This record gives sequence, structure tokens and C-alpha cells, in this order.
Amino acid sequence: MLKFQETAKCVTVARFNSACSDAMIARRYTIQRKLGNGSFGSVYLVSDRKAKQGEELKVLKEISVGDLKPNETVEANLEAQLLSKLDHPAIVKFYASFVERDSFCIITEYCEGGDLDFKIQEYKESGKIFTQRQIIDWFIQLLFGVNYMHDRRILHRDLKAKNIFLKNNLLKIGDFGVSRLLMGSCDLATTFTGTPYYMSPEALKHQGYNTKSDIWSLGCILYEMCCMNHAFTGHNFLSVVLKIVEGDTPSLPDRYPSKLNAVLCSMLNKNPSLRPAAAEILKIPYIDEQLKNIQYKFTNMTVKDKALNWRKEAAPIFDAVQRKVHLQTLQELSEVQKMTPRERMRLRKLNAADEKAKKLKQLAEEKYQENIKRMREFRSRNFQQLNVNVLHDMMNQVEMRHQVNSACLNLQTMIPEDPAIAEEYYNDEFESCSEGSEEEEDVEASQTVSKTNHQDSDIEAMAKYLESVLNNSSLGSGTVIRVSPGAPQGFRALNSTMAETKLKRMRESAIGKLGAEVFEAVYSYLKQARQQNASEEEIRRRLEKLVSRASDCFEVDQLLYFEEQLQASESCLQL
Ligand code: ADP
Ligand code: MG
Repeated sequence: MLKFQETAKCVTVARFNSACSDAMIARRYTIQRKLGNGSFGSVYLVSDRKAKQGEELKVLKEISVGDLKPNETVEANLEAQLLSKLDHPAIVKFYASFVERDSFCIITEYCEGGDLDFKIQEYKESGKIFTQRQIIDWFIQLLFGVNYMHDRRILHRDLKAKNIFLKNNLLKIGDFGVSRLLMGSCDLATTFTGTPYYMSPEALKHQGYNTKSDIWSLGCILYEMCCMNHAFTGHNFLSVVLKIVEGDTPSLPDRYPSKLNAVLCSMLNKNPSLRPAAAEILKIPYIDEQLKNIQYKFTNMTVKDKALNWRKEAAPIFDAVQRKVHLQTLQELSEVQKMTPRERMRLRKLNAADEKAKKLKQLAEEKYQENIKRMREFRSRNFQQLNVNVLHDMMNQVEMRHQVNSACLNLQTMIPEDPAIAEEYYNDEFESCSEGSEEEEDVEASQTVSKTNHQDSDIEAMAKYLESVLNNSSLGSGTVIRVSPGAPQGFRALNSTMAETKLKRMRESAIGKLGAEVFEAVYSYLKQARQQNASEEEIRRRLEKLVSRASDCFEVDQLLYFEEQLQASESCLQL
């Protein structure tokens, strides 16, 4: 399984035997040590002999791809090329990817502070909590990172404390965009990628993943930083899912300001279109105020701690904060004339994007309200003819679907799925705009307008499509629209090789924890129990005869759920 195990051993052995010391991967990386196992493969600390001095340490992720089809490899490489162009202090830098010895390898920045999940556990074990200042600073850094990626139409799909890393006490988000590169872009792929604790209701219901689903996960992370526990907990996979989909929104303990709690609640709104975007959160007066505090802190830092190494790392964050504040000030004072062409361009783009977001949000809201109204009318017309339960079910499904579609309208249509089109977005980024003449700017500006128009027509087309879906469903045929896990939308885009790799690793991990015999017993019992719709209490009682805590079977439960989903998607493909 571990393609580099031999190499790693070789490197270890090399301390005693110089013959092995130059074992190289891709003629430039040597393994230093194994950092851990991820859900797709092993992770190593490597030294890059072609890197600048002081920047040699990097991370190599080895993903066993088995018989990945050539087109899948090409697609993955295209995606990887796009990712390698991105650069932000709050994002773990993606350097390169290549295929070596049946493995897809990814090279990223190394974060010596480990992951946030580890940090939280460490604090928890010693009975400590993070200071409020620390939480807010980190939260703002995460917002910057998410905003940067969402601006570039890239979704994370698996934001969790384990994917957030510490480097010089600053946070960096890892694996941004990687899930799509590995798993494909459909809803089922997201289910396979995401960790249930952080997954949004719409993702769990296969109702479309969009930027707001990342915002939900970020809300879960904010909660975790404050409370040192998951926002939604349960002793088994399904109980966590139920809490996310139907449970109350958790709130922060009283020691936190109510304004922070309000931000959290908005991020955990069950309706994705009502969740704020990262850029909107950054503009909330309470957060904006905190941002200014950070700016003040960073300003002091630069004076006081010139000699400190971490200043180098903090500088880009400080720049980002300063740039944002700078732009705001410029906007407020209407000092447009004082701007450089680059700044003016940036401001124009920011304004256009804000306007667009506002328009989209309004459209989504109108559509949502209109639909609820239509459903109410439908309900009153058909009330006597239909079984109330069925209708209730139908209402829920249609409304849920529409909520998500509204959210899709909000942003998803703007996310180019085709890497070649996505590339255009990168070319159009602020960073790449020239310092050149006003004429050049105007050409760019007119291109932006035509792109916006094109997006508008996309949105209209999507709105029409939604209308037709909704009209069909309200014809009163009595057909219940089920958002069936058996027929997820867009399942064709699932990279089934990777899904199988993931299942295999989950099974191995569960066997590792429970032992082969107990695993088999738990697996076959749970499979049967789920098929027979056994009650949670009954399941818990039976499991506790096999293991000490029912929660030890969480992974087996999730494995069964995934297997079922994969099977369903495969049988759909055969139809
Ligand atoms: P997952 O599938 O859970 O997201 P990963 O493959 O991202 O797991 O990571 C596996 C292990 O490697 C974890 O222990 C993680 O902390 C560590 N790791 C991953 N990326 C980095 C990095 N850039 N710097 C330091 N440690 C890392
Ligand atoms: Mg990860």
C-alpha cells in the first residue's frame, strides 16, 4: 500500500548505511520522516534539494491511485496547475504534483506547528482554553484565506480542524481545492470527502455544495476553537447527521461576546442562502473592529519585534489587513484620484463584485419567498386530496431543494467547473492586472462587464430551469420529490477509484481500532440494523455488548453509509 515505505525505510537505514542516503523522489525530494496518514494516503516531511536555502522542508502527500484512467490523471494535473498558481498567507501553499510509482504525489508547504485539531486536543488535555483574542485573530485569518479562495471560485469541501495548520502561530488552511482534484466535483464526491462533524445540511442531503457550505464548516471550526468540542456531536454517524440537519443551532458559552455568537449563528443557518459570505463577515462592524485591533497589533509588532523570525510570516497577513483597511479608507474618503491605476482597478472590481453579490442575494431571496408562497397555495388547494404526511414530506423536499438551488444561484453558477475556464478567472485576478495605462484598464473593465452579462444569462437560465423543476413538482401528480441518497445529482463526476481508496482506508482504520473480529461483528450487525431501521437505542444497546462504547463504531457506521451511497451511484450508472 505505502509506495514510499521502502524509501522511507531506506532513508532511516541511511543513517547507518550511506548507500541509501540519496534515494530521491522525482529527482529532488528526499524523505525526512513520516508525518501521518491522511484519508487518501501517507504524508511525509521531505527536503527539496532544488529549493532556496532555508525553504527546503516541504510536505509530500502520497496518494495511491491504483488504476487511475489517463484522462483522470490529466484532469487532476490541470487542477493541480491551477492550485499551484495561488498564493495567500492563510493558505498552505500548493507547490506541485506528479505521478510516481502508481502514486499521485502532491508537494505542499510544511507547517511545523501541526494541525489545529492536534492543538485543540493538546489544550483540552491540559485543561486550557484559547484566549478570546487568539480565537478572533485566528478566525479572521481563516476568513481571509476562505475569502481569497472563494473569490477565485475555489471551494474547500473539507474544512475541518485537521485541515488547518499552525505556522509561527498563524493559521493556514490546507487541502483547499484538493478534494475536487482527487474526488471530482459532484455532491456525492463531497459526501465522501467531508468529515460528518463539519458537513452542512445541504451537503448531507446532496442538495448542492457551494461557498456557503464552506462557511458552515468554518462556523463549526469557530465553535470548536471556543468550546474545544465539535459543534454537532453524537454517538454514531447518523445521530450527528440528524443533529446537523434538524437539530438546534448551538450557541457559544456566555463568556464570549453576544456579537461573536451572532456571527456564529448566522454561519450555522440551515438555509445556505442566508449564511453570510466570508467577505460579508469581514465587513460586520464587530469583526471589522477586531480587524483594526489586529492591524494595531501588527503595527506594534513590526516596530518592537523586528528581529523575530515570525515577523516574516506575519508580514503577508499584515499586508492583507492593511490593504483592506487602506481600500476602505480610500473608499470612505472618495480619494479615488490619489489611487494608482492598480488600486483604482481593484476598487472598481470590488464594487462590481459587491453589487453583483447583492443582486444575486436578492434574486435568491425573491425566488425562495416566491416558491414558499407557491407551495402554500398548492398546499391549501390540495389539502383534502393528499395524505398530510406525504404532502409534508413533499413540501420539505421541494422547499429544501429550492433553498439550495437559491444558494446555487447565489454563487455556484459563477464557479467554472472546466479548468480551462477557471484559468480565465486566475488570469483576471487583481494581482495580475498590469500597472499600465488607463486604456488597458478600460479594455479589462469592458471584459469584466461582458463576463458579468454572460453570468447574468446563466443565472436566468438557471432560474428558468428551477421554475420548470418546481412547476413539475407542483402539478399535483402526487409524486414525492425525494432528494434520494440513491440518486445523487452529478454522481457521474465521482472519481470512483478515489472513493474506493477512501473506503479501503476507512475499513483498514476501523479494523486497526477494533480488531478484525470485532470489526466484522459490528459491521454485519450495523448493516442489518440499518436495513431494518432499528432504533438508535436498540443499536446502542447491542453495540455495547461488542465494544465498550457505541461511539467506537462511528467509523463503521460511516463506512456502511458510504458503501451504500457508492453502490447506489454505481447502479444508477448502469441504468
Ligand atoms: P486528512 O486526510 O485527514 O486531511 P492529511 O493527509 O491532510 O489528512 O494529513 C495527514 C497528517 O499529516 C496529519 O497528521 C497532518 O497533521 C499532517 N500534515 C498534513 N499536511 C501537513 C502540512 N502541510 N504540514 C504539517 N503537517 C501536515
Ligand atoms: Mg488534510
